[in-house]
Amino acid sequence: MLKVKDLNVHYGKIHAIKGISFEVNEGEIVTLIGANGAGKTTILQTISGILKPSEGMITFEGENLNKIHAYQIPALGIAHVPEGRRIFAEMTVYENLQMGAYIRKDKVQIQEDIEKVFLSFPRLKERVKQIAGTLSGGEQQMLAMGRALMTRPRLILLDEPSMGLAPILVDEIFDMIQTINEAGTTVLLVEQNANKALHIANRAYVLETGYIKLSGNASDLLVNPEVQQAYLGG
Ligand code: ATP
Repeated sequence: MLKVKDLNVHYGKIHAIKGISFEVNEGEIVTLIGANGAGKTTILQTISGILKPSEGMITFEGENLNKIHAYQIPALGIAHVPEGRRIFAEMTVYENLQMGAYIRKDKVQIQEDIEKVFLSFPRLKERVKQIAGTLSGGEQQMLAMGRALMTRPRLILLDEPSMGLAPILVDEIFDMIQTINEAGTTVLLVEQNANKALHIANRAYVLETGYIKLSGNASDLLVNPEVQQAYLGG
């Protein structure tokens, strides 16, 4: 579904991504794990057209994304939930979800999809008129994911969804990622919480300072001594 080939990304003279190749197949949860600064966010931003690669190619369902502008990405079926969530803090929960459907014209189905989001995230339904900036961190993450689902993506890019959340909410968010996947959305998940990410993913790539150091089935990587030592606390 998504193919990344020999990707190189620079920030000026800083060579952040140094020849990375990976793929995500339809239906999978694939996770990119690695320490701070490994390049995970950079990769997601390049897929969604915010950054341009200096070399390499990204294709989604056969379409070359290098030639596509960031604003055209949602219409292709890719949604990006950025690090830090970036919900519209001044708007209500409901208005945020409506904003998620900005590329769509089908009013009746938009309403149906809002109801579907509420089924997956009942806490959002309870807070439908609440100003989004006053939601807790976990609720804001749910809203960011719900808003992304309003574009009806086939692939969702999730950047550190567990960041800053209490352990109980982290579990809830990871359950929801699985639910979203089971409902038919392919997931590319960037996480520092390698343990949780490997528990829900099918496959994983371990990044280190712009390279892929290891890759394989998530269940194999969970018991890999090198991964355990470096990313799972021994
Ligand atoms: P984190 O988990 O801390 O977000 P990450 O794996 O997502 O880390 P990136 O944010 O992709 O890592 O950063 C990769 C490298 O690129 C880092 O060395 C970082 O300092 C550098 N970098 C990121 N953004 C910029 C920028 N705007 N200008 C210059 N260098 C940058």
